[in-house]
Amino acid sequence: MAGDRAETCSFCGKPAANAGKLIAGPGGVGICDACVGTCGRLLERERAKDGKPAPAASTTGGPALQEAPKTPPLAPVKLIAPTQLRVELDAHVIGQDHAKKVLSVAVHNHYKRLNDRLRKATAAEAGDLADVELDKSNVLLIGPTGTGKTLLAKSLARMLDVPFAIADATTLTEAGYVGDDVENVILRLLQAADMDVARAERGIIFIDEIDKIGRKSDSASITRDVSGEGVQQALLKLLEGTVCNVPPAGGRKHPEQQCIRVDTADILFICGGAFVGLERLIAKRAGSKSLGFVPAQSEAAKLSAEEIVKGLQPEDLFAFGMIPEFVGRLPVISVLEPLDREALIRILTEPRNAATKQYRKLFALSGMTLEFTREALEAAAEKALALGTGARGLRSVLENVLLETMYTLPTAATGSKFTVTPEAIRGEQPVTVAAPKKKAS
Ligand code: ADP
Repeated sequence: MAGDRAETCSFCGKPAANAGKLIAGPGGVGICDACVGTCGRLLERERAKDGKPAPAASTTGGPALQEAPKTPPLAPVKLIAPTQLRVELDAHVIGQDHAKKVLSVAVHNHYKRLNDRLRKATAAEAGDLADVELDKSNVLLIGPTGTGKTLLAKSLARMLDVPFAIADATTLTEAGYVGDDVENVILRLLQAADMDVARAERGIIFIDEIDKIGRKSDSASITRDVSGEGVQQALLKLLEGTVCNVPPAGGRKHPEQQCIRVDTADILFICGGAFVGLERLIAKRAGSKSLGFVPAQSEAAKLSAEEIVKGLQPEDLFAFGMIPEFVGRLPVISVLEPLDREALIRILTEPRNAATKQYRKLFALSGMTLEFTREALEAAAEKALALGTGARGLRSVLENVLLETMYTLPTAATGSKFTVTPEAIRGEQPVTVAAPKKKAS
């Protein structure tokens, strides 16, 4: 039996497990740290109004409140125009035009909103738009694995010089169950910001596999849906903006633990998921409307990213178990297209840090030359396509092919020239090597 012990905050109703601290009073009442903070600020304001000084911290009769250390306010984020963001994205990400455009605008607007909130905090404004609050533009990226969803989000964070963290939605569970609390997502961002709360509060979080936390089923179940709907409910508040208590050591929260308070109002959330079958759903509807019949499966799945986004209705996402409130918190949506052979070849060679450039550099650092024939690139793309993991497979294809060569590289004659052929990619022949030409004496 719990006895007299408070299990929820008597002010806001938050359960002890979700509060950083719950201070118990007589008769089973309790107050959580967040409400103590709110009360403290209220009293402070009242005192300031009355012109009274703050009382000294009491050493007897009641707990002394510790003021959180004040960090100086950060400067506004340097805004980069969407077109400029797009140019930068082009240097790292191949294709995905729709997603690049949508993200450039969303990210630009997000930081414009953040700067506006900073300004409002310091100066009163006049005019009919002064009271207009800008909504948060969290993003949903839909597309197969290995098509650049994470890469896009990461590249944007780097351009804007804001902290960035990646989380996997499938590891999360509702508070109180085995798995990660959603606050651990914020902890990752804090860690990426070297535990600087103010910097973390303007970071970007990419939550992957969001389609895997769909509501399990509508049928009544005796077990709670703690990794599906429960997680969506828990993420809702973070996405919208809340002050959450983050346990600095991660893992499960417990009532006695000291937590770090992080406001998520200005954190940009980008969620990614494959939503396998979504395209067919939309194509079916489009087909049945225009032609009066439902197309066969093979006729579907030929829509462009723009067509999918245009045809997408919230109900399509509900079909994957996403709850309406959650979908509502992701107002900006884009679709990434599957990468074809040509795109994979470009990924191998064009981006600033393309895999072939990196291997060539590694060889150059040992005084060697490395080359890939056009046919070898095609063969590598074919192999990656067969793996079905988008561009993700490219790197491991090359790593396997070059392993043996790199193993013995230091013993090769300086100036040797290595050529990767399609046969080498397919494992039929080793990478060819030509000894350096002797200088005529
Ligand atoms: P996703 O998040 O869509 O599953 P990632 O962004 O993690 O995929 O991609 C995995 C890797 O594949 C990236 O690190 C990058 O090297 C490469 N990659 C994927 N898509 C692209 C792309 N469109 N352009 C360039 N590289 C890409």
